[in-house]
Parts: sequence; C-alpha cells; structure tokens
Amino acid sequence: SSWTADPARYETATFRRCGRSGLDLPALSLGLWHNFGDTKPFDEQRAVVRRAFDLGITHFDLANNYGPPYGSAEENFGRILAKDFRAYRDELVITSKAGYDMWPGPYGDGGSRKYLLSSLDRSLERMGLDHVDIFYSHRPDPSVPIAETMSALHTAVTSGRATYVGLSNYTPAQTLEAHRVLAEMGTPLLVHQPSYSMFNRHVELPDAGSSQDADAAEAGALFAPAPVGRPLLDVTDELGMGVVVFSPLHQGLLTNRYLDGVPEGSRAAVGHFLRPERITDDYLRRIRGLAEIADARGQSVAQLALAWVLRDRRVTSAIIGASSVAQLDDNVGALAAPVFTDDELAAIDELAEH
Ligand code: NDP
Repeated sequence: SSWTADPARYETATFRRCGRSGLDLPALSLGLWHNFGDTKPFDEQRAVVRRAFDLGITHFDLANNYGPPYGSAEENFGRILAKDFRAYRDELVITSKAGYDMWPGPYGDGGSRKYLLSSLDRSLERMGLDHVDIFYSHRPDPSVPIAETMSALHTAVTSGRATYVGLSNYTPAQTLEAHRVLAEMGTPLLVHQPSYSMFNRHVELPDAGSSQDADAAEAGALFAPAPVGRPLLDVTDELGMGVVVFSPLHQGLLTNRYLDGVPEGSRAAVGHFLRPERITDDYLRRIRGLAEIADARGQSVAQLALAWVLRDRRVTSAIIGASSVAQLDDNVGALAAPVFTDDELAAIDELAEH
C-alpha cells in the first residue's frame, strides 16, 4: 500500500530562514530521540512521522545513538522513509549527529575525525540515504583540537555526505572558535542546536563557560577557550548562524502531562532521562500558574511553552518530541498563537526557572 502526503501540507505551514543561509526550516521540527526505538510499535512511529509531514513539518532530527538500542531510531526512520517517503526525499531536511557514546573502544565516542566520519557512514547506511541534510558535532570534546573535529564536518560536506553542518551543546566561546576554524576551511557553519525552554534559559545568559572548562584546562585540554561573556543567542546572531532548540517542553514538564501525578509510560515514569522526583510542589505551583496564563490565551500549556521559545526571531525552529499523534497535533497548534503581551511575558518570567 502506498501512502500519499496531504496535498495541502504547505498551505498553513510556517517556515523560518536558518540564519544568513538559504535554508528554510519549519518553526516546529520533530525529534526522534525518544519514541522511535525498538521499544515502540512501528505503526505508531510511522503514524507520527506521516502526520508531522502532513502538517508541514519537513525537518526530522536524529542522531547515531537514538533508540533504544543505539542506532534503532535511524533504522526505523529508514524503514518509514523507504515505505512512505520515496517520492518526498527532496522535501525533507534529515539530520544526524555524532559525539556521544556509540560503540566500544576509543573510536566510538568524542570528537575525533575517525569517530565522526565512520559514524556518519553508519548513520547513512541505517537510514538508507546517500546524504543527510545537516550533520552535527553532537558535543564539544575539549581533548581534541577543534581543527580536527571541524575537519570532519568539512569533509562530510566536501565528500557529499552532508549538505550543511552544525554544532550542538557548544558554549559561546567554543562556537566562535569552531566557526572561525571552519570558515578558514571554506565551509559555513549553518546552525547551533542548544537546549532552551522556560525552565532552561542558558542561551539568554552571558557565557560563563562550561562547568568542565577549568578542569579541562587544568588537564591540558586542546579545546577549552576562555568564556566570552556574551549570550549564545547574541553570538550565533552575529555569526549569521540559525538556532534550532531542543527539549522546548523540558522533556514534557512544560505540558499538562504531570498535573495529576506521573502517568504510566510517560518519560518521568520510565525515569532514565527525567526523574519522577522532579514533580515537586514547587514544580506544580509553577505549572498551574503557566496553565492559567495559557488558558487566558486560549492555549494548552505545551502551546504556550512552544510559542514562548519561538517569540525570539533568532530561534529558527523548536524540535519537539511526541509519543502520540495527539501530542503532535496539540503542539502544532502553538503556531496559531497570539503575540505575547508585556504583562504575559512578565508573568511567565516569574514562573520560569532561571
Ligand atoms: P520535548 O521537550 O518536546 O519533550 C517531548 C516529550 O514531552 C514527549 O516525548 C512527551 O512525553 C511530552 N509531550 C510532548 N508534547 C506533549 C503534549 N502536547 N502534551 C503532553 N506531553 C507532551 O523534547 P525532547 O526532550 O523529546 O527533545 C526533542 C528533540 O530534541 C529530540 O528528539 C532530539 O531530536 C533533540 N535533542 C537533542 C539533544 C542534543 O544534545 N542535541 C538532546 C535532547 C534532545 P511522553 O513521552 O512522556 O509522552
């Protein structure tokens, strides 16, 4: 049986230009970190990806080790592409990353050229693709010269395995340095992928370096530039990079999911990346306050949280996770949000965590 995408899918879709590049990204993107491993029924995964595309979501964010087990999200996504998306490959922006733990031994983790390029080849095999649209260094590795890590991104582009490249989880100082080195090689740095939500506003705050910087420098790190004191969003803006933010719902905490306890099967119930202890009285007080603001705007809490990260035009896209089509539909409703008033923003500041 062959599937046909909704012909009206671009009529109401919202795109934003990714920095000073030629690439448009949808304001909401779908991430496959959770809910696309072998523990989730294939038909449910397929339904979410189909619905996303029907709603104008053209950007799908993956990484080598998404699952569980590692690699299975790329494999399952590859099956969905082969079954349903053959005719649509050129309408999609598909990303992958390498930088965290992937396979045993010294070549399966970190920032070496050896690891990044072999990991990218394995990701392409799993997804059945000849190129990804964006390949990311998933995290900075202070033990590796930045010129080596960036040379892997440069080669990914010049060899045709990636159309664009990006960084994730780099500090402002590391971003400036990586951008400079890559520009010398002649490869533009398209995008940064940091975390950002009402409960995690580090991208707005002056660069204080990472907590490991001092230790890394002490240990003779090859890549631990001194903090530059400016916020990440200022640095990316100045460099002309786009910003694609992850966990805009703070892994589900910025929704109504935990208002009446921790539901079975939820991320906090699984407990690996989000602990049930996180549902405190203080958390519930904040989320009830946010729910009142959302109500007054005719929105769900999730819609409020997504509209809030997108209020800053320097944010190109917010990558959401969804464990069901219903969650996806709720989230996409955020794009019809009314503009925030100053009073609403001030009330949100009171309830957000800094
Ligand atoms: P979110 O903050 O969007 O959290 C998604 C989770 O929130 C869902 O799995 C679901 O939880 C819950 N949820 C979503 N929508 C709703 C809703 N409308 N109502 C109630 N609950 C809802 O993002 P993620 O943390 O999943 O991250 C998104 C993507 O960002 C990842 O898939 C990945 O692509 C990327 N990412 C990148 C990282 C990096 O280092 N570069 C790190 C982390 C993420 P439940 O499963 O409980 O239903």
